[in-house]
Amino acid sequence: AKYVYRFSEGGMDQKDLLGGKGANLAEMSRLGLPVPPGFTITTEACRAFMRDGVVPADLRVEVTLALREMEDSLRRGLGDFHEPLLVSVRSGAKFSMPGMMETVLNVGLNDASVQGLTEYTGDERFAWDSYRRLIQMFGKTVLDIDGDLFADAHDALKAERGVKDDTELTGADLRGLVRTFKEIVREQSGQDFPQHPRQQLDMAIEAVLRSWNTDRAVLYRRQEGIPGDLGTAVNVQAMVFGNLGPTSGTGVCFTRDPSTGHSGVYGDYLPNAQGEDVVAGIRNTVPLAELEAINPEAYSELRQAMRRLETHYRDLCDIEFTIEDGRLWLLQTRVGKRTAAAAFRVATQLVDEDLITMDEAISRVTGAQLGKLLFPQFDAEADTELLTTGMAASPGAAVGEIVFDNAQAVARTEAGAEVILVRRETNPDDLQGMMVAAGILTARGGKTSHAAVVARGMGTCAVVGADALDVDVARQEVRVAGHTLHAGDIIAIDGTTGEVFLGEVPVVDSPVMTYISHGMDAGLAAAPDEETRELIVAVHRVLSHADDVRRLGVRANADTAEDAARGRERGAEGIGLCRTEHMFLGDRRELIERVILAGDDDEERTAALEALLPHQRADFIDILRAMDGLPTTIRLIDPPLHEFLPDLTELSVEVALAKERGEVDEKRERLLAAVRRMHEANPMLGLRGVRLGLVVPGLFALQVRAIAQATATLRAEGADPRPEIMVPLVGSVRELQLVRQETERILAEEGRAANVLLDLPVGVMIELPRAALTAHRIAEQADFFSFGTNDLTQTTWGFSRDDVEAAFFSQYLANGVLRISPFETIDGEGVGPLVRAGVAGGRATKPQLKMGVCGEHGGDPESIHFFHSAGLDYVSCSPYRVPVARLEAGRAAV
Ligand code: ADP
Ligand code: MG
Ligand code: MG
Repeated sequence: AKYVYRFSEGGMDQKDLLGGKGANLAEMSRLGLPVPPGFTITTEACRAFMRDGVVPADLRVEVTLALREMEDSLRRGLGDFHEPLLVSVRSGAKFSMPGMMETVLNVGLNDASVQGLTEYTGDERFAWDSYRRLIQMFGKTVLDIDGDLFADAHDALKAERGVKDDTELTGADLRGLVRTFKEIVREQSGQDFPQHPRQQLDMAIEAVLRSWNTDRAVLYRRQEGIPGDLGTAVNVQAMVFGNLGPTSGTGVCFTRDPSTGHSGVYGDYLPNAQGEDVVAGIRNTVPLAELEAINPEAYSELRQAMRRLETHYRDLCDIEFTIEDGRLWLLQTRVGKRTAAAAFRVATQLVDEDLITMDEAISRVTGAQLGKLLFPQFDAEADTELLTTGMAASPGAAVGEIVFDNAQAVARTEAGAEVILVRRETNPDDLQGMMVAAGILTARGGKTSHAAVVARGMGTCAVVGADALDVDVARQEVRVAGHTLHAGDIIAIDGTTGEVFLGEVPVVDSPVMTYISHGMDAGLAAAPDEETRELIVAVHRVLSHADDVRRLGVRANADTAEDAARGRERGAEGIGLCRTEHMFLGDRRELIERVILAGDDDEERTAALEALLPHQRADFIDILRAMDGLPTTIRLIDPPLHEFLPDLTELSVEVALAKERGEVDEKRERLLAAVRRMHEANPMLGLRGVRLGLVVPGLFALQVRAIAQATATLRAEGADPRPEIMVPLVGSVRELQLVRQETERILAEEGRAANVLLDLPVGVMIELPRAALTAHRIAEQADFFSFGTNDLTQTTWGFSRDDVEAAFFSQYLANGVLRISPFETIDGEGVGPLVRAGVAGGRATKPQLKMGVCGEHGGDPESIHFFHSAGLDYVSCSPYRVPVARLEAGRAAV
């Protein structure tokens, strides 16, 4: 295998092999943009390293060749005594994992080349500072030495010299610090800091490869659903220096406003500093526009590069750059991460500039992003006490208890609390707490700080740089606006405005949700500002286009008239699943108990069923009225009967106690006997669904009669009810045939009585492997199919969902048996083929057979793409997910 690619050899399509950073560095080099020369070690090398535990032998040779080419072209040698070449060794995987892996800068510095660097830069202080940074980073990353030891020594020296800022230490101070750092290395690792530049390089490469599997990287990948076996690439690149004085500096920028998509100059610049200073948020940056005054030429070159990149990627890009002595260098670019709101605005803005088409625009946003815009927000009318305002770093509204560290965050979350992680600033060690927190609040750092970047990536609400906060972790308190708050105190943070409030704040519909539910005028009226109005228009354009191009219909799962209405408001074109279980609960529980207790007493059972009829008819009238003119798929009763009966243990105890008191309650005793008789070891696989309908006479008949009467009643009012009757858990065509015969008999009977024609469609849930595999037979008796992918997943895997999720899914996710829960995203490999078989079988018998899906997968983006490709007609999901499903169905179609 070829393990090393020069930047001139790769390109942006090779993210799998070169990682995102490497692929984009190569792309920039090929565009002729100023990129310090270098090469990329492939992810394949990382995979080989993970497999064998050693770096492949070929790799060393390939690195030698690439390094020599680099040295020759620059006419400098790695770690030379004169004008040394120094390199950075940078991680970079296919998917961005901000701050999760390692990068070692200034590789090649040693006791000799530090002199060369002094000569080259004319700055002794800088050279020794670079050297101490190398030993520190190398010690921590490569030699696994506790980083605090270096930081403490650094602080101690500053205290000794009576200075506060790093930059106040002199060259001589730093030379002394290097000596101290080397001692730390020797004491902690039992070896000297390696002086040989190539040895440094090899060790750094190996450390970066290893950093793919640090705990925090593993945790992050699990959270983000990134496969653990991809590996990272390693980029070795000539160092450039942003800290050579006032004509140097470093920064990050966006090719357009990352929140509105409007063109303009957006970014942060830090004069006289190295790149990592910006990311660490250690010093305060100036707005990029100020660079124009500081260094007009570099500024204008940067603007040109920005335009070039944006035209090339036809999207918003973010860029890391460094100016060395007036000369611009680009160190990284990628299609910029953005907030959900920004994604919609940027996409439509690019359409308006004729850079992309509407089809492309819908592929530039995701259902997950739309989902975020639908989150409820703080009620603007509410009485609040504003504590302070920081930077709005990641949108959303979070209310929760203050926690100060990972342990508290995890403990309180496990106890059921919502928590806000409050830190001075965050670093990669805080990841665990950040993951469980409802919100993140920091006192320091800007929009590109660790907290901000990671929070945006996770979609967690964050406010950063709220510098009025005095966070005192040692005393476990935070002081702000005259308050001293402790762990456990409630605060509310608004990641959209940056506001931090004391106590609970109530939440309301977001303006985007208001637009979706009540139309453009209502949405615009609810929008607090011009930006939000623009956002609503952007969402409208994108969603309308998705509606135009999608092939999949979108229905809602709703059991009640209110839910049905809510789904309809949000664009549902029908109900894909109306469960009827609740129609047997509450006050009606007693009636269903009577049905069961009746045993062979037909008269008693019929009486109880008849008593249920008017209630259920009223339920159906409500729902069908809410869905007037739209198909409403009603599922006949599905769960095991014992769910409607008292708990066996409780009832046994009750009866036993009564007996002890000498009371005789015959009814309770008969109930107990029935409950005992019906008790099942495996209810999920027991008497439920169609089996129940066939075994308990009159049960399905009652439901069908109630539906028939509701339909007839509404028709008489001039309404247009469109119920579809769905039979659950069918495994054999004969089961469906029996139900169908009875259903048709009742529909005919009720039709005659009401003098209307009631030929309602009768369909079937395909949720058992046998049903999927015999779909061609089942279709003979079915007017439609609806895939019940929850049960299909349970029965295909042999998982009992309620049991396995809590018991061992987290372990299965950790050890890679599962990449993601198959109940969240359909298992395309194992359950997918059954869906496809069901579709093929059904259509073989009836080419026009209507097919949908009504499991929870119907609202999951990845699953929706699968259902599109499987050729289904519609998906059905919770009313809340309907807009998301509309968008994803559109995205699947372009
Ligand atoms: P991350 O992926 O965590 O951003 P990077 O590999 O981008 O890590 O490097 C960390 C910092 O070091 C960035 O600010 C980057 O700009 C800077 N850096 C990396 N390589 C070089 C280089 N060759 N010259 C100067 N600065 C560099
Ligand atoms: Mg970077
Ligand atoms: Mg089911």
